Amino acid sequence: MDFTAAGPAAGPAPDRTRPVPFFGQAASFEDAWPDIRARVTEVIDDGKYSHGQQVGRWEAALAEWTGARHCVAVNSGTDALVLLLRACGLAPGDEVVVPAFSFIATASSVVLAGGRPVFADIDPVTYTLDPNSAADAVTGRTTMLMPVHLFCQLADMDALTGVAERHGLTLVEDSAEAIGMRWNGVHAGLLGAGGVLSFFPTKTLGALGDAGAILTDDARIAEAASALRHHGRTGRTLAHFPGISRATELNGVNSKMDDLQAAVLLGKLPRLAAAVRRRAELAAAYTERLRDVPGLLRLPTVAAREADTNPVFYVYLVEAERRDALAAYLADHGVGTETYYPVPLHLQPCFAALGYKQGQFPHAEAACARTLALPFHPDLTTADIDTVCALVRHFFTGRAA
Ligand SMILES: *Cc1c(COP(=O)(O)O)cnc(C)c1O
Repeated sequence: MDFTAAGPAAGPAPDRTRPVPFFGQAASFEDAWPDIRARVTEVIDDGKYSHGQQVGRWEAALAEWTGARHCVAVNSGTDALVLLLRACGLAPGDEVVVPAFSFIATASSVVLAGGRPVFADIDPVTYTLDPNSAADAVTGRTTMLMPVHLFCQLADMDALTGVAERHGLTLVEDSAEAIGMRWNGVHAGLLGAGGVLSFFPTKTLGALGDAGAILTDDARIAEAASALRHHGRTGRTLAHFPGISRATELNGVNSKMDDLQAAVLLGKLPRLAAAVRRRAELAAAYTERLRDVPGLLRLPTVAAREADTNPVFYVYLVEAERRDALAAYLADHGVGTETYYPVPLHLQPCFAALGYKQGQFPHAEAACARTLALPFHPDLTTADIDTVCALVRHFFTGRAA
């Protein structure tokens, strides 16, 4: 397909020396591999592959890094959300307000925990839950509010804490992509009852497969989550948590983190701060090169807050005219992109029974139609960014510079 024909001019596309994949992070954590290999050997020799020594060490290391009183390691970020909601006492049929623009797990975790997701619109600049829309979504059956921290920054946690307090809601955070982000010094996930982290390989801190964690300062939530991940067991007896809903008391799951993943994460953690700094440099390099490209409607914008915030670039997301044609043009020239998220949650087929309609959350719908994530990982070079930006410029102007 000739996508250049759709552009205003059709000069030759810029030269490219090598493809730029959307994702890769082996090289940036290169100096971690000897340590990771030694730890993996330790797991093999230890012979305890499930909840041996590495998982406990990982929970302690993560608690220290984030400042959480309790970290509960589990099988994935999605399981962390389900178990967090249950450990916080979500009862069957309870409503949880979530943004309409997020990864599917934000809403499916509510259903899996026995609740009902209620959608609200996002702020069009930060793509995070709009506090006014969230307040409008609250009904007599709503018990929880779950903002999501997306791409490079936290949702407006001062305003959302206010909404939760005014309506008597438990505040939990889908902080799956927010490792390193802080609000007045408090790590994401610790601004309400609890939050989660995902260590899916593409995340800022990725394992070599699925892994996740629950963060909380509340010992009772940690104790409940810790039992629920292991069939509801504490020691050899079945658990009972007074005050937590009956459904939660009776059914645990098997969602333990593998010791091999804990070993990998322990090896990578000391390099995380450097990887986060590298991500900030790469985001600045993109913004400098893309600032004046016509056809780009928005570059990532970190909102000015009264709070002291600590943005971390997990994804570099632009809004573009003719987004799908741009993505196809980049793919044709060896550049990988991703669409986070092509369909808003309220229009996902699995939630059709909830009765939402197109047009109900215009900012979420616009974000789904216009946003595109460019290649972004700490292994990128400035030359890679030059390549991507020259192609983007060429797509819209017919010139590479
Ligand atoms: C990655 C992610 C999840 C799910 O984490 P997994 O480890 O893939 O299960 C949930 N919510 C958001 C916002 C995410 O980005």
